[in-house]
Amino acid sequence: MSNFDDFADLNAAIADQIKLKADAAAAKAARDRQKRGGPVASATLAEDQARIAEWEARHEWRAEANIALFERETCTTCETVSERFVQFMRLEAHRHLRDSHRIVRADKADAALSNRVYVQPRLVPMCPDCAEAKGWLLANAHEVDWASETSAVGA
Ligand SMILES: [Zn+2]
Repeated sequence: MSNFDDFADLNAAIADQIKLKADAAAAKAARDRQKRGGPVASATLAEDQARIAEWEARHEWRAEANIALFERETCTTCETVSERFVQFMRLEAHRHLRDSHRIVRADKADAALSNRVYVQPRLVPMCPDCAEAKGWLLANAHEVDWASETSAVGA
């Protein structure tokens, strides 16, 4: 390897370090803006969140597994069990802190990772099948859309 190559490698290493410092400063500035709170343009907020997520993915957290989160609901009256998919998530391990993990929302599964299913158990006092035993005739009940009803209150 010639001296010229050594200098080219050195320059590339210096350029990498400069970019690393600039990225770290941009991610820190974004975190500081989020900590301060207050009015921030939504475009800036979205850019900051993307910048922090990208920084964390490259330097702090390593994806380990896909998670499909399910909810398992057990009716305590008739003991019927039903399951429903809640959302995709991703298990991540911290790159520097041993035994530190986090679970974050994910848009979809990453085919390169292993798949896990997490089940949240939940007990409910009645299900639609045993509502009548609890004195509720659901066939006679008027169904109301929760979101529109609650947003109308106080409007
Ligand atoms: Zn039931």
